[in-house]
Amino acid sequence: MKTGGTSGDEAERAWLHPQPPSRIGQWLQQLLPPACHHCRALIPANAYAEGGAPFLCPECLERLPWLAPAFSCQRCGNLTAEPKRRGCPQCLGSNWSLHQTIADLRYEGIVREWVLRCKFGRQDWLGPLLGRLMALAQQQRPPLPSNAVLIPVPLHPNRVRKRGFNQALLLAQHLLSNLPEPKLEMRPEWLRRIRDTPPQTELSLEERLRNPENAFAAAPEVQGRTVIVVDDVMTTGSTLNASARTLQAQGVPEVIAWVLCRRVHEPEVQDFGSH
Ligand SMILES: [Zn+2]
Ligand SMILES: [Zn+2]
Repeated sequence: MKTGGTSGDEAERAWLHPQPPSRIGQWLQQLLPPACHHCRALIPANAYAEGGAPFLCPECLERLPWLAPAFSCQRCGNLTAEPKRRGCPQCLGSNWSLHQTIADLRYEGIVREWVLRCKFGRQDWLGPLLGRLMALAQQQRPPLPSNAVLIPVPLHPNRVRKRGFNQALLLAQHLLSNLPEPKLEMRPEWLRRIRDTPPQTELSLEERLRNPENAFAAAPEVQGRTVIVVDDVMTTGSTLNASARTLQAQGVPEVIAWVLCRRVHEPEVQDFGSH
């Protein structure tokens, strides 16, 4: 991406916060015969126009590895054997600071492929598709707190320069534009990455858990707000928990993580609540 004649400041902002697709781009897309982005089957003509419609045919949509909210731990998003658990063996007793985790899909199969292609393959159509999947999953859940503010997990500016964009911001923009009115507020600038930590994928499990600590800084304006931090993938949860601790230190009473997909562990049947 070239920044041409823009001033240093403007260029920096463009790197950090790329704009969503233009109206003309969206309009051109609507002129094409709508087909499922996965299997190419034709889908109803209004599929692109309706907010939350996912660009997939009903069969492909149903085959996605959706997570059932009732059998996901509300605190960490992992699978649980019993319904409606708030805390499970995966998050109790660990350094878990998030109040709630909303995870829409398992991080596997085609979903994992889409996330990797979106992140490293620069395939622009995936941003709208993945954002719409998150908005669609939300239709099945209770409404989000109306005073909440959405904050995509930031990348360090060095990483944004290398990759060209922040996939969490891209996802959050498309998610937001597909959520019903009244829209939540989004404030990417309220959380910054101040330490250029190595990518989590290059580290051992132990290093991953420590790596994102003290990597973030939060703006004072965030104080007193409920924050929903948005990211594409949660694996160990260490990045999202580190961002939660930074926000809590800045006076945020409740931090919710909302991720497109999560690497989940099969539930342990052991019951932690019985003694
Ligand atoms: Zn299909
Ligand atoms: Zn849990």
